Amino acid sequence: MKRRNLIGLGLAAAMGGSLFAGAAAAQQQFVTIGTGGVTGVYYAAGGALCRLMNQTREEHGFRCAAESTGGSVFNLNAMRQGEFDFGLVQSDWQYHSYNGSSTFEEAGPWEELRAVFSVHPEPFTVVARADAGITDIEGLKGKRFNIGNPGSGTQASMDVLLEALGWNRSDFSLAAELRPDEHGPALCDNQIDAFYYGVGHPSANIADPTTTCGAKIVPLEGEAISSLVEAHPFYAQVNIPGGLYTGNPDDIPTYGVLATLVASTNVSDEAVYNLVKSVFENFDSFKSLHPAFAHLKVEDMVANGNSAPLHPGAERYYTEQGWL
Ligand code: GLU
Repeated sequence: MKRRNLIGLGLAAAMGGSLFAGAAAAQQQFVTIGTGGVTGVYYAAGGALCRLMNQTREEHGFRCAAESTGGSVFNLNAMRQGEFDFGLVQSDWQYHSYNGSSTFEEAGPWEELRAVFSVHPEPFTVVARADAGITDIEGLKGKRFNIGNPGSGTQASMDVLLEALGWNRSDFSLAAELRPDEHGPALCDNQIDAFYYGVGHPSANIADPTTTCGAKIVPLEGEAISSLVEAHPFYAQVNIPGGLYTGNPDDIPTYGVLATLVASTNVSDEAVYNLVKSVFENFDSFKSLHPAFAHLKVEDMVANGNSAPLHPGAERYYTEQGWL
């Protein structure tokens, strides 16, 4: 955890060298949350978490800041290097980081990874140009397809899906790696035919291309997906609800994961306890901060999607509340 001692920043000197002022200020500690692209839901979630934690700063002394990043895989790697205290990550990548599997095979198991809670569902979402003639997975073959930016959970999960399908990136005429804030404009400018994104709904960067150029959400189903869902506890078959986006009135079947908040054993119990407490003591306010949080339930957040052990700071709060 980054403890920025304000005396070390020269603030005590600026305050006329008063030892007392310096000592009080030194108690403030900073915590950071790695999120995702600025137009995604992680960034909004990180902002909401920090906002609630900062509201009670006087009581606990933590100041929280959320940072935009490349997404899940980037966050897990950066946290392991000690660059963030908390990270929002897909439940599949929480699992693989803790176990040292898939993308994290080379890095090996990260045994210090700890779960805090899960947040919103993230259905894997394919959005296509209306004129691209893409109505199912097969229709993506030979197309200009955005597979997500490097470091995103999105791209890493697409690689898993490609393997399950027996395809590889060269099955697309273009495998673009644009960021989520770029994929909508690229779709509407006809630079790509479709994009893929693992995200909570509604998400601004999916709403944009549906209103701007009539983009359509494409179902993701078939044998490869059914086998993936059967083989891995972190996947589930889900629907993207109809009516969330302009011109997409029907439920669309796909599969997905959960967004989760994680920390590591290097983050103090106090930091985690106070973040968790700020969220659950203001839960209605948290749920109102983004429409993707509207249906969250405490019991699901504590129980689902957490494959790493719970952080002791979170466990303490959940035990106090009788939730474990
Ligand atoms: N699930 C996405 C990823 O890890 C990020 C989604 C978001 O930013 O809301 O790539």
